[in-house]
Amino acid sequence: MKPQKPFYVIVHVPFLQFAAVALFPFILIKEKNFATNRYLINHELIHFRQQIELLILPFYLLYGLFFLYNWLVYWDSQRAYYEICFEREAYQNEDNLNYLQTRPLWAWIKYLRKQP
Ligand SMILES: [Zn+2]
Repeated sequence: MKPQKPFYVIVHVPFLQFAAVALFPFILIKEKNFATNRYLINHELIHFRQQIELLILPFYLLYGLFFLYNWLVYWDSQRAYYEICFEREAYQNEDNLNYLQTRPLWAWIKYLRKQP
């Protein structure tokens, strides 16, 4: 059976503070040409999967809490962002375009701890 193509809608938002943001089912991108960046889109689709399995709203709540916790630990907003388990999972697997086909449910949990 062929895996289903993920559903998403790309929205170009030039004033975005980040390269891209995943707000299921929308992927907001800062620059139009990001739409053809398969790795960036894959990164955002990994966030979609995290959002879906957490029923959307709890994802944003947890994301904010993890960011706040990391910020209190590191006093550095960039580091706080990269240390969020959701981001760790997305950054470590964005280059693997087949990742979502084999990813176990709630895979982000293992990224709560730093990977060796
Ligand atoms: Zn991300």
